[in-house]
Amino acid sequence: MKGNLYIIAGCSGVGKGTLIKLFLEKNPDIKLSISATTRSPRDGEKDGVNYFFVSKEEFKSEVENNEFLEWAEFSGNFYGTKKSFVEKTLAKGIDLILEIEVQGAKQVKEKMPEAISIFIMPPSLEELEARLRGRHTETEEAIQKRLEQVSREIEAGKNFDYKIVNDKLETALENMQKIFSERKNNVNG
Ligand code: ADP
Ligand code: 5GP
Repeated sequence: MKGNLYIIAGCSGVGKGTLIKLFLEKNPDIKLSISATTRSPRDGEKDGVNYFFVSKEEFKSEVENNEFLEWAEFSGNFYGTKKSFVEKTLAKGIDLILEIEVQGAKQVKEKMPEAISIFIMPPSLEELEARLRGRHTETEEAIQKRLEQVSREIEAGKNFDYKIVNDKLETALENMQKIFSERKNNVNG
């Protein structure tokens, strides 16, 4: 039986990475797809672990070779999901998470309507901005660019199958676990 494909999206700084990391520690059988990106690595990020960091030229040639299931420009950089990795993982019966932004999520849903989409909401816009700033990973200019996307992203989030508010991390994590368990039971029962 094929694995389930989960799409997780939400505004920059909402806590997607934090949630997914904790979730995967508790669910080691589930995999996370590693995307390709043209953005520069942040301190501590490693090539092949957090992302495949590629040049704009490399990214463009991969687009031309039809290697991406989806790709999008976000905040001045390109991001994309490798089609072959997704197909191989699901064929092995392994459940897979794509942590991608909303334009890519729409492309995946169009191609694979069975994919399960989850949108992570911030408790408030003030808290979102505080988290983004508190992470200390972006310049002021990059923070502004990311904040400019927020209303468009939240609007797009209305079309997702599920929404989780990441207020208290523990509660958000429990809600995520519930969605995955529900879907697993659906498939098996
Ligand atoms: P994203 O991957 O969505 O861009 P991150 O996971 O990097 O966001 O989280 C952004 C910042 O917010 C990090 O500093 C993280 O520690 C913090 N954070 C994440 N979830 C919560 C939460 N529920 N409450 C408070 N801070 C959080
Ligand atoms: P960041 O630069 O903060 O790592 O990511 C910026 C945004 O790009 C986030 O919303 C993240 O989910 C999204 N993203 C990461 N990888 C991909 C991808 O492969 N495709 C798309 N469409 N978005 C991605």
